[in-house]
Amino acid sequence: MTQSQTVPNRTQPPEWQQNWWKNPAARGFGLSALTLLTAVGGYVAEAQGATPLAWGLWAVAFLTGGIPAAQQAIRTLLRERKLDVDLLMVVAALGAASVGRAGDGAILLFLFSLSNALQDWAFARTRRAIEALMALNPEGANVVNPDGEETWKPLDDLAPGDTLLVRPGERFAADGTVTEGFSDVDESALTGESVPVDRGVGDAVKSGTLNGHGVLWVRVEHRAGESTLAKLIALVEQARAAKSRTERFAEAFEGPYTVAVLLSVPVVYAGAHYLFGLEAAAAWYRAMTFLVVASPCAVVIATPAAVLSAMGAGARRGTLFKSGAALEALSQARIVALDKTGTLTEGRMRLERVVTLDGSEDEAHRLAASLERLSEHPVAQAIAAGWSGEPLAVRDARSVRGRGIIGYLEDGDTVWVGNRPFVADQGAALDAHVEGELGALEAQGLTTSLLGRGNRVLALLGVADSPRPEAREAVAALKRRGMRVVMLTGDRRAVAEHVAKAVEIEEIYAELLPEDKLQMVEELERQGRVVMVGDGVNDAPALNAASVGVSMAGGADVSLESADLVLMKNDLKGLVGAFSLARSTAATVRFNLSFALGVIVVVGTLALLGMVPLPLGVVAHEGGTIFVVGVGLRLLAHRVVG
Ligand code: ADP
Ligand code: MG
Repeated sequence: MTQSQTVPNRTQPPEWQQNWWKNPAARGFGLSALTLLTAVGGYVAEAQGATPLAWGLWAVAFLTGGIPAAQQAIRTLLRERKLDVDLLMVVAALGAASVGRAGDGAILLFLFSLSNALQDWAFARTRRAIEALMALNPEGANVVNPDGEETWKPLDDLAPGDTLLVRPGERFAADGTVTEGFSDVDESALTGESVPVDRGVGDAVKSGTLNGHGVLWVRVEHRAGESTLAKLIALVEQARAAKSRTERFAEAFEGPYTVAVLLSVPVVYAGAHYLFGLEAAAAWYRAMTFLVVASPCAVVIATPAAVLSAMGAGARRGTLFKSGAALEALSQARIVALDKTGTLTEGRMRLERVVTLDGSEDEAHRLAASLERLSEHPVAQAIAAGWSGEPLAVRDARSVRGRGIIGYLEDGDTVWVGNRPFVADQGAALDAHVEGELGALEAQGLTTSLLGRGNRVLALLGVADSPRPEAREAVAALKRRGMRVVMLTGDRRAVAEHVAKAVEIEEIYAELLPEDKLQMVEELERQGRVVMVGDGVNDAPALNAASVGVSMAGGADVSLESADLVLMKNDLKGLVGAFSLARSTAATVRFNLSFALGVIVVVGTLALLGMVPLPLGVVAHEGGTIFVVGVGLRLLAHRVVG
């Protein structure tokens, strides 16, 4: 396998890749094949009259098929103090043996272990697909050389002693010590504590935590820890026990149902024996048949089989769902809210115009670039990229989400770049002349920011951005699917309208500060479930508030962390695909659940009436389970059309 070469990150190859025996799917398939062989061997031996041999073979089948289930049952019992279907399966198989049908019990265990192995296999595929995605977006960090030059290094190449420049909203790629700057750091990923902590010179920062508003220089102490994506994988692994609402239903259902079935056995036995006058052996046989038929395997497996397969199919196409719950919420969404910059547009902005009010254009550009090189905002990157000379020293730079960035020059003056509200924050005023110039730039579709020093405005900066090539088609496809599509942006209305026209969105909310975006999403949530798509630091609160938060893989690390779904290919068409996948998944889950419950009701009733012989009960019950798993696995091959 070439995987170790294509995955540049620090996920260890899972143990099972070194040793097939540790691969749960391979082991499961191996054991279920053994169970089938010995079960069938037992039937053959019985037909030849070799009864002891037959029972010996069936005993082996019980061990190979029953021990993994028994282990699982005991684990659940001890850890969660719950009874689960695994227990029911083992009891049912023993019950079949107790009425002289050990072969049927063995077949029951075979089918049960096969359906588990199929699930493990689907999960392994999902995991591999996610690992392939990691190769698509290799992670790294910005390292500052002693001469002040900044280079990007892949995570694996980071070494103790390197100095990292960590911009606002970025994740720390390694454990280290702050050597310059001051910031608030969100350590909730490690400590669960959601209030950010202050970090300044000499303080330790931990790999995987998020930088807040300040800019930090950090000396690497330990080689990099987990990458963001490695963390996503861990999340998806947890999603194996994911808690989407239907799954919670199945889970909540599992324990009490198991108990109810177990308790019903003596009731059925007593009823058949005393009420209907059946012989003790016949009554026991009927109770055991009922036990087999009523075990809710298919109900419990119906949802995870579909959800896991869908997550795998999504991952292969570059849409990474963090949980099964996200899939389910997406299938119910009615409103899509899209951020403009970086989401509908490429976010690869170019500085087009510098209009100076005070001083030379060169000076203005140098000042702006010296500050903006410390910001992660796409506007900032455009301004910084346009400057190739020596930057000025700027101290204690802090970004203000959705407004701009501010720092101090050597002489103690503040220097800032931002939008109109930010200008007002700095106590600077815009006269009619400046407003006129701004309006002219915005009428051309340029995003404008203002550069200032102290309380004086020095220059206007106009940057251009182009809509993503696929944005218009993606918006049209979402509308065809009946979605209401709206744009939410922090930019000016005139600029927003330019982009909205190009991508054909009619409903626009502009000039929104991050808290307004959040409020807007909450407002929209009252009208229907909202999918919020964003890429920036300013989108993070809104992504959290929406039913489904979607982030671009190229977006800020905070937005990646806040999202429920990541578009790894940085392509809006992925969202359309994710929708259709989510809807197919929901339909599959509904079908699977109704089918599974239907089988139990129908066959269970017939079994009570004594109309189902045990072998048929086994086939109906476990055949139903395999069928449901198969229907779920079909989603692995899900393809989207427009
Ligand atoms: P959007 O919602 O379209 O992604 P933001 O909320 O991130 O936009 O930003 C809103 C506006 O604030 C930008 O159009 C820009 O003028 C200004 N702004 C925010 N941060 C910066 C920055 N670091 N440098 C310059 N301008 C900024
Ligand atoms: Mg944005």
